Amino acid sequence: MKIHGLQKMTLLDYPGKIACTVFFGGCDMRCPFCHNAELLDGSAPPVMDENELLQFLRKRQGLLEGVVITGGEPLLQKELSKLTARIRDMGYPVKLDTNGTHPDLLERMIREGMVQYVAMDIKNSPERYAETTGLEKPDLTSIRSSVELLMEGRVDYEFRTTAVAELHDDNSFLQIGEWIRNAKRYYLQKFTDRETVPFD
Ligand code: SF4
Repeated sequence: MKIHGLQKMTLLDYPGKIACTVFFGGCDMRCPFCHNAELLDGSAPPVMDENELLQFLRKRQGLLEGVVITGGEPLLQKELSKLTARIRDMGYPVKLDTNGTHPDLLERMIREGMVQYVAMDIKNSPERYAETTGLEKPDLTSIRSSVELLMEGRVDYEFRTTAVAELHDDNSFLQIGEWIRNAKRYYLQKFTDRETVPFD
């Protein structure tokens, strides 16, 4: 597997754990506020392969407490559950960041114990999903299925929204609130602009 980035240590990305963050290229959304736009088409040069990652994790055993898998959209990686199985076997809990478009694969990873924490983006209220994801017809059926799956509580999870003034208003959050009512955690993060963000 091609790995497109590795942050060797983070105190922010895995709640309560000292972790590293592994980035995979490729995404099935085109959010105009994306911070990782250079990863979206999967053509960026990889920084390492899975064996090099596992070697790094072996060296950090006892120092790191978890591994964050992010992207892009990591569930586009066909071999992901094989990799997370090896990471889990080394004793690391895995946190997965996802946009929610692959509920079947997410369910399998939860069922097989391949992931211990899931952070899923709620991009906006359903009616504004298209403009917020840069897609003409986002797959809301799959996204709703992922929300329902996580709210079953079989794995620890959070929902989160990056709030962007041009894309969200009060009604966005009122509708999101209705949608994910009784969710375990919901975080808002403030959009910060960067040179690499495609949205002008
Ligand atoms: S889902 Fe995430 S990685 Fe994909 S375009 Fe949106 S912000 Fe970027």
